Amino acid sequence: MVAQDFKVDLNKALVFQVGHLGEAYQEWVHQPIVCKEGPRFFENEFWEFLTRTVWWAVPVIWLPVVFYSISMSVRMGHGFPEIALMVFAGIFVWTLLEYTLHRFLFHIETKSYWGNTVHYLLHGCHHKHPMDGLRLVFPPTATAVLCVPFWNLVKLISVPSVTPALFGGGLLGYVMYDCTHYYLHHGQPSSDVPRNLKKYHLNHHFRIQDKGFGITSSIWDRVFGTLPQSKAAKKDR
Ligand SMILES: [Zn+2]
Ligand SMILES: [Zn+2]
Ligand SMILES: [Zn+2]
Repeated sequence: MVAQDFKVDLNKALVFQVGHLGEAYQEWVHQPIVCKEGPRFFENEFWEFLTRTVWWAVPVIWLPVVFYSISMSVRMGHGFPEIALMVFAGIFVWTLLEYTLHRFLFHIETKSYWGNTVHYLLHGCHHKHPMDGLRLVFPPTATAVLCVPFWNLVKLISVPSVTPALFGGGLLGYVMYDCTHYYLHHGQPSSDVPRNLKKYHLNHHFRIQDKGFGITSSIWDRVFGTLPQSKAAKKDR
């Protein structure tokens, strides 16, 4: 069996190797290598370039889109209180999406060659090298593609003049999420709220990887019962 004996060579481009791990992939990808130096993904320079994203590209590219979308609803006649409500609603929709995507898509259990390959690109790479600062936020090209179904989803649940502001709010939620995620890995928070969020997320990486899917809050983990047990609670049992 090829899959059984396959060893990943960390010094070679990873993306087309990980698929060969087969059923062993899930265990491999959840054993983190804590090192700021990231691995090579593709042999091809162009594809390799697309996999590297500095964190600040996210606000620089997407905040103008956020403001433009919101301004569209303003031009269609909505006043400030309504706009604020739509933006908040969009952020709220995003938090649910953040949880759902992370739990059900990013942590889908794969074992086929292409299943593993796609999983690695989507989220596996971040669990394998959680401190790789250039493979942490979502590449803008991928976000741009995902904006299309997101826009259609928002359109489905709103009237035309509300769609842009709701979409803008959702996109703003995404920007806040990705920046928060980067900060939780690379920042040194000194106040309580971000410190606890950091602990909460590192727990998802290094202790219980099938719990604690929320990044910007633990709300949906509470609602859907995926809150990790604290160390103290575990000892008590
Ligand atoms: Zn994860
Ligand atoms: Zn995972
Ligand atoms: Zn993370």
